Amino acid sequence: MAKPLVAFYWCASCGGCEEAVVDLAEDILNVADAVEFRLWPVAMDFKYKDIEAMPDKSIAVSCINGAIRTEEQEYLAKLLRQKSQLVVAFGSCAHLGGIPGLANVSNRAEIFETAYKLTPSTVNPEGIYPKTVTETPYGKLKLPEFFNTVKTLDQTVDVDYYIPGCAPPPDLILKAITAILENNLPPKGSVIASEKALCETCPRNESKPDKLVIKDIKRISMVKADPEKCFLAEGILCMGPATRGGCGERCINANMPCRGCFGPTKQVKDMGARFLSALASIIDIDDEEEIKKVADSVPDPIGLFYMYSLPSSILKRKKGG
Ligand code: SF4
Ligand code: SF4
Repeated sequence: MAKPLVAFYWCASCGGCEEAVVDLAEDILNVADAVEFRLWPVAMDFKYKDIEAMPDKSIAVSCINGAIRTEEQEYLAKLLRQKSQLVVAFGSCAHLGGIPGLANVSNRAEIFETAYKLTPSTVNPEGIYPKTVTETPYGKLKLPEFFNTVKTLDQTVDVDYYIPGCAPPPDLILKAITAILENNLPPKGSVIASEKALCETCPRNESKPDKLVIKDIKRISMVKADPEKCFLAEGILCMGPATRGGCGERCINANMPCRGCFGPTKQVKDMGARFLSALASIIDIDDEEEIKKVADSVPDPIGLFYMYSLPSSILKRKKGG
């Protein structure tokens, strides 16, 4: 019997999602046995023209990681959508925008200025910036357009399923692959992870007092966190109450607070706003000066509350950019 054809593609991301596939360890051999790869640029040399020549919907599933930042990424996402029966947003950046999505606090002009002029290691007195077309004596050189705004995968193409996480844990990847291979899929649009908030399965939840109140906010880098106690109860910001569970509490077990890479639970529309409102309800201070002091103790609120989700949030990006 012909094996199902599979594509993996890497957009704006760090490459961790590709490594997460390798983290399947020996299980990757079973996956490699069960499917036939048709595109996986990080591991195998396929050409875009080979994909363009395939009949529509001939690929069983395309797993796309990374946010959409450039014209080339947008083109490949649309091409794979056309050629695939299923498209899976693989990892936080494809799902929510991820860390690359934090660039939406800036715009293309500012990013180019920083990257190609202002960094201490750059020497560029003529202010030459990348262009989509450059005339040379040998012909035109083309680069894909760098968009002003970072988008999630589902802001670009229709997405069937989401595997969350930065990067997705191997057990979740295997669960998703098995569900696809056995045609035992949840409803379209599902996030393949827990429906509960991370706090509900967190081993530190029991140490959380019934009425949670804090008087100040401590930065994890400035304190020695008690490995048994709930971070929030200690005044250390932890996104667990607003984050979907299913990651195996990876950060918590390493004595680091959750930063929200699994994204919001189904009921939460905007995880940064949800966490802010949860935080406001537990800060027990009346004095305005003191409240300002606590607010000022979070130096980068967007970077913290929307670390993985800015493009998918209500804010989406800095306005006027
Ligand atoms: S706030 Fe963080 S540490 Fe506390 S129970 Fe929730 S996930 Fe665990
Ligand atoms: S604890 Fe939070 S940030 Fe860490 S892996 Fe889990 S969901 Fe992601």
